[in-house]
Amino acid sequence: MAAPGDATPIGSAASTEQLTEDVRARIPAPVLELMATLWRADRAAYVVGGCLRDALIGREPADWDLTTDAAPEAIAGLFPRALYENRFGTVVVRHAGSQYEITTFRRDATYSDFRHPDTVEFGSSIEEDLERRDFTVNAMAWGSSPGSEPSFVDPYGGRSDLGSGVLRAVRDPDLRFREDALRMIRAVRLAATLGFGVESETLASISRNAGLAAHLSGERIAAELEKLLAAPRPSIGLRLMAETGLLAVVLPELERQRGLGQNKIEGEDLWDHILRTVDAAPERPIVRLAALLHDVGKPDTLADGHFLGHDKAGAEMAVEMLSRLHSPRLLQERVAHLVANHMFSYQANWSDTAVRRFIRKIGPAAVEDLLDLRSADNVGSGLPADSGGLVELRARIRTQTAGRLVLRREELAVDGRDLMVELGLPPGRRLGRILDELTERVIAEPAINDRTILLDLARDLMTHDGMVDNPQS
Ligand code: ATP
Ligand code: MG
Repeated sequence: MAAPGDATPIGSAASTEQLTEDVRARIPAPVLELMATLWRADRAAYVVGGCLRDALIGREPADWDLTTDAAPEAIAGLFPRALYENRFGTVVVRHAGSQYEITTFRRDATYSDFRHPDTVEFGSSIEEDLERRDFTVNAMAWGSSPGSEPSFVDPYGGRSDLGSGVLRAVRDPDLRFREDALRMIRAVRLAATLGFGVESETLASISRNAGLAAHLSGERIAAELEKLLAAPRPSIGLRLMAETGLLAVVLPELERQRGLGQNKIEGEDLWDHILRTVDAAPERPIVRLAALLHDVGKPDTLADGHFLGHDKAGAEMAVEMLSRLHSPRLLQERVAHLVANHMFSYQANWSDTAVRRFIRKIGPAAVEDLLDLRSADNVGSGLPADSGGLVELRARIRTQTAGRLVLRREELAVDGRDLMVELGLPPGRRLGRILDELTERVIAEPAINDRTILLDLARDLMTHDGMVDNPQS
């Protein structure tokens, strides 16, 4: 018997009645309560789309979506705490501590720009609503309309495709991808998320229509790319992107890595190295993105069999690519920082001071990400994850960051005011230099981060630095 959160797929042999009950058992109580409210008001109510797909294969749904024949105003009338959300007829309802989207049945309207329907039209049946959905596994519903008992609605054979792990476009793929080119990217993304294949007609259609992805906005591509990179094995989707030609349209900088030789793993090119590296990276968005982009500077910097400066060149390209996708500034910077620094080389003879300087250069918040990127890069190169002394470096960094680590002026036991008050130093460049020198000394010897010691040291520096107290100097 199926239950909410059950992690086993619902068997394919079940009778229609059994299936209806098994699916009902997987729907969380608060969702059934929302549906009951709609049913009591003599409205249709169905759970639909990705959540049903996930529930059927025993995957935790990200969110439960409902669809109904009630118009948005009528939905809002039934749920006092509803927020009327957007022009697509979606109402967000708060219930039992969560938010749920309830969307009025829609039908497909005409698309003239390969990405937006010209108008949004409400539909009159669940069948019509399922008809406009992208893939068969996303075009199933469970629920009922007035006058009928709840049942499982699957007009396109979604359950069978779910059983074989296949993404198949609903109706004619060419038409569907021309209506909305994002569906092609969703196909490769869902293939990675679910570990599915793309059915051959659908796949061939993506190859024919890949060029239409050029019409998509950066934001929409970025949202799917982010989900793709969060998959257990992103390479499934990335490889499909490359094979269908989507990569050349959406991320041409990465397309150029295909066929570029690497003397890492026999018979593999730079793109193969990237795919292995991304899969090996932990599932954190920054690290996965950095893994995807870490060698993007290589094609441009190749000279005499070397890729000198590819890290810095790649960091600049990463920023360009991520701004094109309208990624947040902070994300761009954090990814670029990892790309720029991924070529560090650790030596066992580093002093503790050298380890602290390394932490300062990379930043305590980024150092773990950088080591994870490097481990993934190792795996992508056919090396053990920890080669290059990474286990030792990790341990040494942890030892340093476990205590109170002083890496910046602002963390010293004295500040500029102390030096002005106690030593009569005027504000200006000289004061700044003394603070910088004190910081260097404390990085070399953390025990001296003490007010009295630092003031003495500062006094000493004042008499030996040969500078005068000119605020302008
Ligand atoms: P996830 O589990 O990652 O959220 P999802 O399939 O639920 O995957 P959503 O973006 O949440 O993706 O979309 C919810 C549902 O809406 C889909 O399952 C599908 O039925 C439909 N859908 C979403 N985007 C499109 C689209 N571009 N064209 C047609 N149908 C779409
Ligand atoms: Mg979803």
